[in-house]
Amino acid sequence: MKRVDVPTDLLVNRTAGELLVLPDGVAHYITNVMRRQPGDALELFDGTGNQAVVEITSIDDDVTVEILQWREADKKESPLSTVLFQAIPKGKRWGWILEKATELGVRSIVPLHTERTVKRIPDDRVDDRLRRWDKKVSSAARQCGRALTPELSRPRTPGEAYEETPCDIHLVAHPGGDATGVVSALKKLDEIKRLGIWIGPEGGFTQQEVDNLTSEKDVRPVHLGPRILRADTAGIAALAIAQAIHGDFV
Ligand code: SAH
Repeated sequence: MKRVDVPTDLLVNRTAGELLVLPDGVAHYITNVMRRQPGDALELFDGTGNQAVVEITSIDDDVTVEILQWREADKKESPLSTVLFQAIPKGKRWGWILEKATELGVRSIVPLHTERTVKRIPDDRVDDRLRRWDKKVSSAARQCGRALTPELSRPRTPGEAYEETPCDIHLVAHPGGDATGVVSALKKLDEIKRLGIWIGPEGGFTQQEVDNLTSEKDVRPVHLGPRILRADTAGIAALAIAQAIHGDFV
């Protein structure tokens, strides 16, 4: 079905069965460019996630449509899309990270196999692990009321992960050195829609890994305070801070 973008607000708080008179620009596009007729169906989107399947009921001075199906934007999703690139830690900590990151609105999780990762998933076990991890994030998403389940990728090296998962900006958490605090780094950014947060394994990223990543212009090193956090605390803390500054804790 043809998808038509309409001004924000046209589809706010509607219900199926309602009639809508389309704004002039959209009406012109539908009749003169798309050459649609009464009885034709269209899908309308307003850019904030509200959408409606409609049928054209009349075309005269105005174009009127009837809403057949209407879907409200998912208010549970943050305007900040976050991607957590995290080295898989040992034991039960990974399951905990999946659950808490989901609650904090993470959009995508990329498990990392880094140089110092102790816990590596052999290739022939990856599908099985992904199924288990997916169950974990799906049930966490349900429990916290999200309709959207975070995406989970296969384990990746940092280089592969960077190439495959573009973000507006990436922050690599690395203790010490001359990194900026995560809060100052985030406050300096405006208009970020998709943020990558990178957390190393128990032994940390190697300096070489950090140098490789930060040689890209959209990757910056940050610190999370003077104490060394466990990997599972670090990812969750960084996600919460990001939601507080650019997401839906604001
Ligand atoms: N022994 C390691 C610490 C690993 S902590 C080292 O000294 O590098 C696991 C991961 O959590 C780190 O790789 C980093 O990504 C993150 N992390 C923990 N505490 C941090 C801090 N204070 N600042 C920045 N990153 C931190």
